[in-house]
Amino acid sequence: MKRALVCGAGGFIGSHLVKKLKHEGFWVRGVDLKYPEFSPTEADDFIIGDLRNKSVCYRAVDQYFDEVYQFAADMGGAGFVFTGENDADIMHNSAQINLNILDTCYKRNIKRIFYSSSACIYPEYNQLDPDNPNCAEDSAYPANPDSDYGWEKLFSERLYLAFHRNYGMDVRIARYHNIFGPEGCWRGGREKAPAAICRKVAEACDGGEIEIWGDGKQTRSFLFIDECLEGTLRLMRSDWTGPVNIGSVEMVSINRLADMVMKIANKKLNKRHIPGPMGVRGRNSDNKLIFEKLGWKPKQSLETGLQKTYIWIEKQIQELR
Ligand code: NAD
Repeated sequence: MKRALVCGAGGFIGSHLVKKLKHEGFWVRGVDLKYPEFSPTEADDFIIGDLRNKSVCYRAVDQYFDEVYQFAADMGGAGFVFTGENDADIMHNSAQINLNILDTCYKRNIKRIFYSSSACIYPEYNQLDPDNPNCAEDSAYPANPDSDYGWEKLFSERLYLAFHRNYGMDVRIARYHNIFGPEGCWRGGREKAPAAICRKVAEACDGGEIEIWGDGKQTRSFLFIDECLEGTLRLMRSDWTGPVNIGSVEMVSINRLADMVMKIANKKLNKRHIPGPMGVRGRNSDNKLIFEKLGWKPKQSLETGLQKTYIWIEKQIQELR
């Protein structure tokens, strides 16, 4: 039986990946500060522990794993990473997790480790035009991410690549672009745009209004969780290191995203634009490289994923009432 370790298995992407690996027949160990919030973990073994602590890393990697996935990070949506208020925690905590877990895996002779980087590593100067952003993988340098979250991800990409070059580890690096879906954070300050907009629309009465940060003309693309897992596993099991974008090319403005959710909810709402953290003006995945190397591209439309996410968030709200 193959064995996998999922770091950050209590979080959104990690908890979904645990389910998928179990479905494939893996023995899975999860490690996180917390259990998944919305459904019980399906991991065979789950360590509650802080990966900033080296002894927790040694406890988690006390045996051979065929596949190690590193998702643990101090992260959230624009309201968490773009205000500047959490920069010290974001940089210190996530860098320490990556330094610890990668070194432990090397010392325990683990060969293959996946690292979840982010589209936030791309330089701001290529993302000023909302209609024409450049996020091709080779545009990452000269580096100028617009957040410390992006700088930490770039540092850690380099860390993993250095262990690959110097120690022969089989690292795999994906740059995720806005992953969303059911069982993701949807309130409390760390939620991302699709979940926040679904929540605002679900809570509003027909004919009412919702708040949008900024003018809503900033553009993004959003990838449904199932597609993210598919791309992740294909990269992990390929013979190619990356870094590579895993994202959608269906770019929309935040205003358009809100209109799509309103249509799903069958509600007409006024959009009130208020000051708020926005990030870069435009961002879209560039999927040429992943298609060239892995022959894969995501298939699901944004609307299909939004429908599933909206239904799930609406249910969360109803259960709280
Ligand atoms: P998430 O916040 O839901 O999951 C991260 C998990 O890491 C959380 O459960 C958290 O408790 C855990 N964690 C944080 N600090 C820890 C510590 N010291 N020790 C142990 N566990 C700790 O985030 P996610 O959306 O599932 O993202 C997973 C990874 O993918 C992250 O590294 C994130 O930066 C990256 N990523 C995500 C997206 C996205 O759109 N979701 C986009 C780009 C990159």
